[in-house]
Amino acid sequence: MDNCLFCKIVKGEIPADIVYENKDILGFRDIDPKAPLHILIIPKKHIESINKLKISDKHLAGELIFASKEIAKNEGIDSKGFRTIINTNEDGGQTVYHIHMHIMGGRQMKWPPG
Ligand code: AMP
Ligand code: ZN
Repeated sequence: MDNCLFCKIVKGEIPADIVYENKDILGFRDIDPKAPLHILIIPKKHIESINKLKISDKHLAGELIFASKEIAKNEGIDSKGFRTIINTNEDGGQTVYHIHMHIMGGRQMKWPPG
């Protein structure tokens, strides 16, 4: 998608601090971290949100969760714990319309979130 911020990161047109990559998935540090560790995991393919997932994207959707496991281990927060979040549309607080999973850790998370 031409005008999508995260597609530009995938294409290398905008710099990002990349911490994880395989052929389908990219993980990079959030530019405005809300926790000591705040990483975003995205599919390289442009999908707007959870609402736009197709049945054929099921494997890719699972890869986001699997990548969160690997990243949490690499970053040393797996045993203490972490939070994974996908915001969807306005009420969910989505601001970038390329599906992404937040991984946040390094501090005690509150529940319920605001
Ligand atoms: P959301 O509000 O769930 O759509 O999350 C979008 C996230 O993208 C926010 O946490 C932003 O801080 C983050 N973000 C925006 N621009 C960039 C960028 N260029 N590089 C890394 N993270 C970004
Ligand atoms: Zn995109």
